[in-house]
Amino acid sequence: AQERYTSLRGLPAQSKCGTVTRLLMNAGLMADLPSIEGSGAEGVGLFRTELQFLIRNQMPKRDELAKLYARVMEAAKGRPVAFRTLDIGSDKVLPYMKPQDEPNPAMGWRAIRVGLDKPGVLRMQLQALLRASAGRDLTVMFPFVSELSEFTTARDHLLRERDREAALGHPVPETLRIGAMLETPSLAFAPKQFFDLADFISIGGNDLKQFFFAADRENERVRRRYDTLNVSFLTFLSKIVARCAESETQLSFCGEDAGRPIEAMCFAALGIGTLSMRPASIGPVKSLLRQVDLREVRAVMDDARAAGLESVRPAMMGWLATLPE
Ligand code: PEP
Ligand code: MG
Repeated sequence: AQERYTSLRGLPAQSKCGTVTRLLMNAGLMADLPSIEGSGAEGVGLFRTELQFLIRNQMPKRDELAKLYARVMEAAKGRPVAFRTLDIGSDKVLPYMKPQDEPNPAMGWRAIRVGLDKPGVLRMQLQALLRASAGRDLTVMFPFVSELSEFTTARDHLLRERDREAALGHPVPETLRIGAMLETPSLAFAPKQFFDLADFISIGGNDLKQFFFAADRENERVRRRYDTLNVSFLTFLSKIVARCAESETQLSFCGEDAGRPIEAMCFAALGIGTLSMRPASIGPVKSLLRQVDLREVRAVMDDARAAGLESVRPAMMGWLATLPE
């Protein structure tokens, strides 16, 4: 099977209906980058920058980070890389930061909330990203945005740092794309202005699902209790697709479910055009996407919904079993 995936490497994830889904990879360490070639990923859809902060015992320096980010972009050889700003707090605690004793860290002071309340580290990281991408394209996404004003404030920090760098005579990126991760249900209901302003939106399905079902992703007793192919969740995802379409905002999905072929196929059928996953999942996801007509997948989903089923999975498995090998 691995050989079959290798032969797909240079081919697009084009489904029978003609729709091409962009497949990107998730990364977080320099060591992940070489897989970009072997996997056939068109770029890095999620670069989790906190890993660099987590593996050290002191806060990294700006210039050190700038060098590292430049190496990441070089390794991507012109393919886009979406750098997600620091997502600390919750399950990721920096050894050199004062631990916060929070009753419920996943819903606590984490990610962009920390960045906005204590902007020193965020601004340092943004400067490092700007310096690293001198003359190149820079894509930045902010994690765990829950409302419009958090996005506008974070975005303003980035634009201000860019202008400051330029005023200091430092080279700035050729183009700058600024997006948000949609990881809390609230953001799906944000004013239209949010969808207009964001250059792209990436669904952080791991967190989004945990908050949609109120089921802790770290808790073994409940983490697998609700199916990603639950009709309620898929209906919610369609709502996000519609809101992005209305504003012509590019939408991707970068949680772990994007790397599961059946889930990925359903996301693509809902109209999510870009999926970002661990490199090893790209082959299997592409293989399935190429075998199906997404209009048929959509019809199976719609029928399951119309029939009042809780999950589309059984119907989808039944339909997949009828496909020719
Ligand atoms: C997510 O929540 O789906 C996501 C991609 O971010 P992380 O898993 O790092 O929280
Ligand atoms: Mg997340």
